Amino acid sequence: MPDRIARIKADYSELFSSSPEVIVKGPGRVDLMGSHTDYNDGFVLPVAVNVDVLAGGGLRDDGKIAVYSGNFEKLVEFDLNAIEFDNVNTWSNYVRGVVHFLQEDGVALRGANMALYGNVPIGSGLSSSAAIEMACGYLLQELNGFEMSGPRLALIGQQAENKFVGVNTGIMDQFISRLGKKDAALFLDCRTLEYEYVPLDTSQVKIVVCDTMKRRGLVGSEYDQRRSQCEEGARLFAQWYPEVKALRDVSIEMYEEHKSRLPKVVAKRVAHVVGENHRVLRSREVLGSGDFEEFGRLMNASHDSARDLYEVSCPELEAMVEVTRAASGSLAGRMAGAGFGGCTVSLVKDEYVEQFLQVVAVEYKKKTTLVPSLYVCTAEDGASVIERL
Ligand code: ADP
Ligand code: MG
Repeated sequence: MPDRIARIKADYSELFSSSPEVIVKGPGRVDLMGSHTDYNDGFVLPVAVNVDVLAGGGLRDDGKIAVYSGNFEKLVEFDLNAIEFDNVNTWSNYVRGVVHFLQEDGVALRGANMALYGNVPIGSGLSSSAAIEMACGYLLQELNGFEMSGPRLALIGQQAENKFVGVNTGIMDQFISRLGKKDAALFLDCRTLEYEYVPLDTSQVKIVVCDTMKRRGLVGSEYDQRRSQCEEGARLFAQWYPEVKALRDVSIEMYEEHKSRLPKVVAKRVAHVVGENHRVLRSREVLGSGDFEEFGRLMNASHDSARDLYEVSCPELEAMVEVTRAASGSLAGRMAGAGFGGCTVSLVKDEYVEQFLQVVAVEYKKKTTLVPSLYVCTAEDGASVIERL
């Protein structure tokens, strides 16, 4: 991080001939549990990790936002009163969207200069998009000094992504990037946005994220199809149980009683979501009591269900899960995110981490010819101030 802080200060002073007033971070995240439960009003268990987007900023008086990304090496400027979609520097839409929806929410913003520099890998499943949204949102909050709860800023980030950038995502990414806590995972009820921290001491076990390097090609259409299959399942259950609004309201017993009346594919999707919600609830308990072995078994069961019942795996994810589970010191391997490529997440006993990294790199390449990217992660705070100048 020190290098990136220095880089931000240098970029900022070169572009704006002054020092930033404050530098904040918005972290990336990984979901430890909760596969496709978010849009079913269910439960998730993500963690904010030690890669982040850093953002330094200062106020200006002309009602303009100037934002520089050190990753894209581009400076973009726009007027607070006329925020338009940027077809050229599309990355700036994440910032534009946050600014737009802060103002929609009634926040009076002043102009600002911002310099960003992130090390969240882009597009590989650690949610660099939520990281940039929460870094910029939190920076603007610090600079302008307005009060806003963490969940509210997370919702603004989600609106920016859904309605300004145009990507249909749930609330989890922004929520954990804003509200994550050091040495803890976050249990989130995606319906009520009630949340709770679950201790996760990463001195004993590390979270290792393994990027398969397989980009998530089909994810858009397949994702939409799964969503509508879940909606169909919820509609069918609502005939038998009027209180059912989403699959979150279907218990294992309800599923068992009615499964034979569901279309075959819908039955599988429902079985996954119902089982997964149950596993996330169990995970909160076992992780809370420090039982990493049982937590690892739940993570494995989550993956197997996502593969067999939800059918969102792919050969690269299977190869990675196989080698990460087999490595010494590994307690689990499951797909992270939506599937169809991207990353897996493992829990690895601290003393085995070096060996794990070597073995996984070699064995995964043997199976797929791909060279994976591996990230050893710790559980970190959500969006926060790194330095005040
Ligand atoms: P991810 O899985 O990493 O969230 P997305 O496609 O949702 O992938 O978001 C990635 C996009 O977020 C990038 O293409 C870019 O537009 C924006 N972004 C992320 N990090 C940065 C950064 N440091 N500077 C500028 N834009 C960024
Ligand atoms: Mg994203």
